[in-house]
Amino acid sequence: MIRIRNLAFAYAQSVFDLQIDELQIQASSATAMVGPSGSGKTTLLNIIAGILSPDSGCVSVMETDLAGLSDAARRRFRLKNIGLVFQEFELIDYLNVLDNVLLPCRVDRAFPLTSDRRDRAAGLIEDVGLKDHLKKSVTRLSQGERQRVAICRALLMRPPLLLADEPTGNLDPVTSDQIVKLLLRAVQDEGTTLLMVTHNHSLLHHFSRTIDFAEFLTTSARGASVEESRR
Ligand code: ADP
Ligand code: MG
Repeated sequence: MIRIRNLAFAYAQSVFDLQIDELQIQASSATAMVGPSGSGKTTLLNIIAGILSPDSGCVSVMETDLAGLSDAARRRFRLKNIGLVFQEFELIDYLNVLDNVLLPCRVDRAFPLTSDRRDRAAGLIEDVGLKDHLKKSVTRLSQGERQRVAICRALLMRPPLLLADEPTGNLDPVTSDQIVKLLLRAVQDEGTTLLMVTHNHSLLHHFSRTIDFAEFLTTSARGASVEESRR
């Protein structure tokens, strides 16, 4: 699903640099990424999503080399194939629950709002227990409810790849567990590939694989591969 080789990335005017010689993520797997703050987890997700471009090396998602695409094609590839979930939800406050979930249909004419997509959105919202809140402003929802809306939006296009950056960071333990189970259900039911950053080690048993950026940090100086632990 994801293949990274000889990746190097640095921000302008920052000493931080990310180097990954080799990393592969299998399709339909659930992988957790852990590691200290500032170790490059968010940076890597942004590179995989094609939001940031590597300085060198190859990153392919579903056999597609992101660097080979134009900006517009990369954006379209992302909308179609990658669902993104963030810690801060990134919902649009002036839109209701349904319209937030349907947001991908508003940002690209390639994905018009069809009755199928509207049904899919309503079905997802029902699945996560928010059926009675369809027309409610997202500002009136709890944190856990907001994150469920964000997950519905990420799943709208049935993306083969789901990237989640600390999606439970603002949530209590019970709600965190519900959110992770929701993400894992997409892996089980739809064969989605899930890559999730978390600080919460009590969630790791849900995942088939954990990549620890702490080991990666020490080895990256030597340009070695990402070390990983299999559970
Ligand atoms: P993590 O998600 O593991 O906490 P990040 O990928 O966000 O780490 O950040 C890795 C490093 O890159 C940090 O040192 C951070 O300060 C730096 N960094 C992140 N974003 C930027 C940016 N836009 N410009 C410059 N440096 C950045
Ligand atoms: Mg981060």
